[in-house]
Amino acid sequence: MNPPVLYIIVPCYNEEAVLPVTAPQFLEKIRSLAAAEKIGPESRVLFVDDGSRDATWSIIRALSRQDGHFLGIAQSRNRGHQNAVLAGLMEAKSHCDITITIDCDGQDDLDAMDEMVEAYLRGNDVVYGVRSSRKTDTWFKRTTAQCFYRLMGVMGAEVVYNHADYRLLSRRVLEALADYREVNLFLRGLIPLVGFQSATVEYVRRERIAGESHYPLSKMISLALNGITSLSVKPLRLITGFGVIVALVSFIGVIWAIISALLGRTVAGWASTTCIVCFVSGVQLISLGIIGEYLGKVYLEVKARPRYIIREKTWEDPKP
Ligand code: UDP
Ligand code: MG
Repeated sequence: MNPPVLYIIVPCYNEEAVLPVTAPQFLEKIRSLAAAEKIGPESRVLFVDDGSRDATWSIIRALSRQDGHFLGIAQSRNRGHQNAVLAGLMEAKSHCDITITIDCDGQDDLDAMDEMVEAYLRGNDVVYGVRSSRKTDTWFKRTTAQCFYRLMGVMGAEVVYNHADYRLLSRRVLEALADYREVNLFLRGLIPLVGFQSATVEYVRRERIAGESHYPLSKMISLALNGITSLSVKPLRLITGFGVIVALVSFIGVIWAIISALLGRTVAGWASTTCIVCFVSGVQLISLGIIGEYLGKVYLEVKARPRYIIREKTWEDPKP
């Protein structure tokens, strides 16, 4: 059997500071794996420029002119990390046997790719890169990340613990993934749903080589919310459950009110009435908000707008 053709998919957004450092490392990895005959010589590094405002795209174009192993596609505008990764995966799907997605900031250990490819050769279609520890994270990032996994678990959205988007996918998985047409994309939750035999490979995640993270707290919260609402309807069930409890308590309250009225003890009670009104209206607003969140998702899904638009490629079709 010929060694599999590997495409390393690298999403890049305003990464002019790190790309010149990490691009040669990706190339070196392709070369060493190909030299060991673990991957085929047609393997490539595919950069996805996610509408960067700096020199990222011109760097990618220059790289592709320097070495035929480098390919690049540019999105028509910034669409976010998940959509950039998907654009790369769907572009690579028809050219390769396996893909490995990795960030371009040098945080993920490239040497884990050797083990990933080996796990693929042993028959796994999905290989998750899992962080062995979070020592290099700040206390804040570590705590928020733990909250994220706990919240996802409680809300019924299953994800692999400490796995971000560093993973190997086989062509079979990519083809199955192409049939998941959702606009609200959360790949980490989607890949386990696709199924197939999977394995995990541990690696140590380093600090960013340069530049700043594009995932501030606000984006992490929105990713978590998107993950929960696109994978699970548990929040809606929780509302129903809570509604039932409040209804039962209210029923007792009604009996109490009637008995009090019959006994002629109905004058006092301003504080209790105010508390109940405030509490119930708060619960109702939160519940409406959660339902609205799902409704918004349905709205976006119904419109089924394209999930990515490729503006430019570093090659002329058909692929070199
Ligand atoms: N990224 C992207 N589009 C965005 C934001 C980020 O393609 O809108 C890329 C970014 O260039 C990097 C990867 O996604 O390769 C992960 O981003 P980052 O390193 O900022 O996140 P962190 O590692 O801090 O979670
Ligand atoms: Mg990073």
